[in-house]
Amino acid sequence: MGKLVIVGTVAFDAIETPFGKTDKILGGAATFIGLAASHFNVDAAVVSVVGDDFPKEYLDIFTDRDIDVSALEVVPGGKTFFWKGKYHNDLNSRDTLVTELNVLADFSPVVPEGHRDAEVVMLGNLHPSVQMGVIQQMAKKPKLVVLDTMNFWMDNALEPLMEVIKKVDVLTINDEEARQLTNEYSLVTAAQRIFEMGPKYVVIKKGEHGALLFFKDEVFFAPALPLKEVFDPTGAGDTFAGGFTGYLASTGNHSFENMKNAVIHGSNMASFCVERFGTERLLELKREEVSRRLHQFKALTQFDIELK
Ligand code: AMP
Repeated sequence: MGKLVIVGTVAFDAIETPFGKTDKILGGAATFIGLAASHFNVDAAVVSVVGDDFPKEYLDIFTDRDIDVSALEVVPGGKTFFWKGKYHNDLNSRDTLVTELNVLADFSPVVPEGHRDAEVVMLGNLHPSVQMGVIQQMAKKPKLVVLDTMNFWMDNALEPLMEVIKKVDVLTINDEEARQLTNEYSLVTAAQRIFEMGPKYVVIKKGEHGALLFFKDEVFFAPALPLKEVFDPTGAGDTFAGGFTGYLASTGNHSFENMKNAVIHGSNMASFCVERFGTERLLELKREEVSRRLHQFKALTQFDIELK
């Protein structure tokens, strides 16, 4: 069983989509990553922080799935990270209305002793200095370090973000953020610029238009599954990252060829996430549903064309 270290926010989210709104529900990058990764044969640990306003039922969600929470610090008297977002009618774009860092503002991560030799590290969205702190605590160089980030950190902590990008193997980022980070409109050129920053692989997520995996001068494309109903895209990117790294950690094969499969697994997990608010769909997701949809993905992209 491969070991996976997950760092990212564990949060309260308030979400508004054209179909409805929620008050503070369970969210956070590490939450979505962990839930998705728990569908693979991995020994995962979450490194994050919450306040003592974080309900025990939410903590149980992690432990029920055998996710190690010994490094999920609970700060007495502290308030959990809070994010509020509102989606536009096309659901592809959103406005962040509130970001309250709360306990995240003074967080020093501690990777659990038993996970310092993990082969795969998933640096989910949170302060880049915290992401760097996790890399520095690994006892030996992990086989694969994957980083996800967002515009908030480009706007507020660009320097430490560039430092951590230098140290990772894979950057996963959405199209809008790739353009902001590189000042390039073409995603192909943006990926080349990101290679120059350090990563060997770049995954650019394009919401309902799928995801692109770049490596040297090669590119692989995975569509998103066309769904009848997209209800709430929150966490889709993190769920993708959880499926991507969960699969890679479980197989122990980090080649470009296997990374193509990982992109499909990530897209598959993300397709469930968007069907309900927040983590709701992931919480009730069955293994049979995951494998059935994987077959749909295969059928969606398989064709037999005669090439002369
Ligand atoms: P995604 O839709 O994949 O971008 O992820 C949404 C999740 O990211 C939500 O559950 C939020 O709690 C979390 N989030 C929002 N803003 C930030 C931020 N600046 N840093 C870390 N996590 C965030």
